[in-house]
Amino acid sequence: MARIVMKFGGTSVADIDRIRNVARHVKREADSGHEVAVVVSAMAGKTNELVELTRAASPMHDAREYDAIVASGELVTAGLLAIVLQSMGVDARSWQGWQIPLKTDMAHGKARIADIEGEALGEAIDNGEIAICAGFQGIAPDGRIATLGRGGSDTSAVALAAAVGAERCDIYTDVDGVYTTDPRLAKQARRIGKISFEEMLEMASVGAKVLQTRSVELAMAYKVPVRVLSSFDPPDAPGPGTLICDEDDIVEKNIVTTVTPDFNEASVTILAVPDEPGRAAGIFNALAASNINIDMIVI
Ligand code: ADP
Ligand code: ASP
Ligand code: MG
Repeated sequence: MARIVMKFGGTSVADIDRIRNVARHVKREADSGHEVAVVVSAMAGKTNELVELTRAASPMHDAREYDAIVASGELVTAGLLAIVLQSMGVDARSWQGWQIPLKTDMAHGKARIADIEGEALGEAIDNGEIAICAGFQGIAPDGRIATLGRGGSDTSAVALAAAVGAERCDIYTDVDGVYTTDPRLAKQARRIGKISFEEMLEMASVGAKVLQTRSVELAMAYKVPVRVLSSFDPPDAPGPGTLICDEDDIVEKNIVTTVTPDFNEASVTILAVPDEPGRAAGIFNALAASNINIDMIVI
C-alpha cells in the first residue's frame, strides 16, 4: 500500500461528467489499497474568466483581491469532487489552501510555497479519508489567500506529495504523457516512457506547459517521482504515461530528448549600462524581486 497524490487539471474537471470520471480514477486507487490525496484545478476556462472579470473591474487592481477572486475556481472543483466521491460511498473531504495550511511568501499573484504543515492532512489520510485539495493557492503571511501563478496546481500537487511523504505524484491531464514535442502541434510527436527531472525542467522552463516549472524544481529537490498520464484513459485501464525520475533510473539516454517551441518569449535590450560592479546586479535583483524569469542573457 502506497501513499500517492493525484492531480487533475482543468480539462479533466471541466464539467460534472468529467468530475465523475475523475472520481472513478480516484476510487480505483483507493480500492487498490492506496492512501490518496487529490489536487484539483479549476474547471477549464474558469481561471481565464475570473482573470478577465478582475481586469474588467479595473485594469490596475490590488493583487490581494486578484488572488481572492481567481483562487475561487479551485474551491468549487474541490467541493464538487468531494460530493461526487461521497455519493459513490467514498470517504472524501475538501481542503482549501488555508485549511492545510499551505503557506506562501508575500508575492501575491505569483507566490512561492514557503512551508506546508502536512500533519493534519497526513492524519486525515491515515484515517482513510481522501483529501481533495484546492490547487493553485495557499495562505500568505498577511493571512490572505495567495495564488501560485498560472498552472500552479502542478506545484501544489508536488509540494503536497513531498509534505505528506507520498511515494509518487500522478499528474492527470488531457494528453497521455510527455511527448517529444507538443502533440497538439506535431502529429509525429512520440510519447516518452521515462524522462529525467533535469530534462523535464529544461522543457518546462522554455514553455512546455504540460508541467509548471516550479513543480519540476520541487520534484527534483525532494526526489518525488512524477507520472504524467491522461484522465481520459478508461479509469479501469489507465495507460503507462510518462515517468519523470532521477537520471540514474533511466537506462537509455538520448542526446536530444524533446523540442519545445516558445511563443511567449520577450527580448528586452537595455542600452548604455555602465560597466561598473553592481550595475548588472541592480537590474537582475529588481527583476528577481518581481519574479520575472530570465532565460538567456546576451552581453
Ligand atoms: P492541465 O489543464 O491538465 O494542467 P495543461 O493544458 O496545463 O493541462 O497542459 C497539458 C498540455 O500541455 C497539453 O494539452 C499539450 O498541448 C501541452 N504540451 C506542451 N508541450 C508538451 C509535451 N512535450 N508533451 C505533452 N504535452 C505538451
Ligand atoms: N486554474 C489555474 C490556472 O488555470 C491553476 C492550474 O490550473 O494549475 O492557471
Ligand atoms: Mg497545467
